[in-house]
Amino acid sequence: MRKPMVAGNWKMNKTVADAVKLINELLPELQAQTAVDRVVCPPFTALYSVSELLKNSGIGCGAQDLFWEAKGAFTGEIAPDMIAELGEYVIIGHSERRTYFGETDESVNKKVLAALSIGLTPIVCVGETLAENQSGQTETVVTRQIHNGLKGLSTADAEKIIIAYEPVWAIGTGLAATGPQANQVIADYIRKPYAAMYGDVAAQAIRVLYGGSVKGSNAAEFFGQPDIDGALVGGASLKKTDFMEIVNAAA
Ligand code: 13P
Repeated sequence: MRKPMVAGNWKMNKTVADAVKLINELLPELQAQTAVDRVVCPPFTALYSVSELLKNSGIGCGAQDLFWEAKGAFTGEIAPDMIAELGEYVIIGHSERRTYFGETDESVNKKVLAALSIGLTPIVCVGETLAENQSGQTETVVTRQIHNGLKGLSTADAEKIIIAYEPVWAIGTGLAATGPQANQVIADYIRKPYAAMYGDVAAQAIRVLYGGSVKGSNAAEFFGQPDIDGALVGGASLKKTDFMEIVNAAA
């Protein structure tokens, strides 16, 4: 039985002051909802303050990216152990990083391995663009992202990573996939190739989240699907009432 998870990806939103305010608003209700694993991923600048507020709260904290090297002359980058000091999770390969910052399956794979080697749990994003979807490329693209982005994992790590299926056309557009649509991609193009790589036990153990215009009004449709274990939430994670509606729908 996989425990549901709802993670908020704040993207490039919230100053430290705004982040602290939102966490203080969220904490009582978020802490009460123990049936769901709850995670927030603030921008790097707010990670320390948020992690301090979340200490011993039962709520997870994560970063939105990392670099694979341990240290050195990599101006602007953040090393795995810098994140591990402050949180347990890291989002890797978000489509915005693939689109705007040149992230590839190869860089995703290096980041996934680096995160796992320091004990972080990666939340690895995959998903097809609108053009790929419309030209019937969803299976090819998503299975390629799984094969190339997630290769080389140990058995223990293969059972603990988290994958987020985020169709690019559904992100920030208000145009979410339907529950059955997302479930089919997750079952056939994510869990199935993953089972071929790491076995059925791993493919059934890992949590796969859906992301893309999730809100209170459509969350239950996703959470009712057998292969969807929760959500990676962008816009609706920035306000207490919106985020709590989704978290509570996952319970
Ligand atoms: P929205 O929920 O704003 O569509 O963003 C989804 C997302 O990209 C989460 O990582």
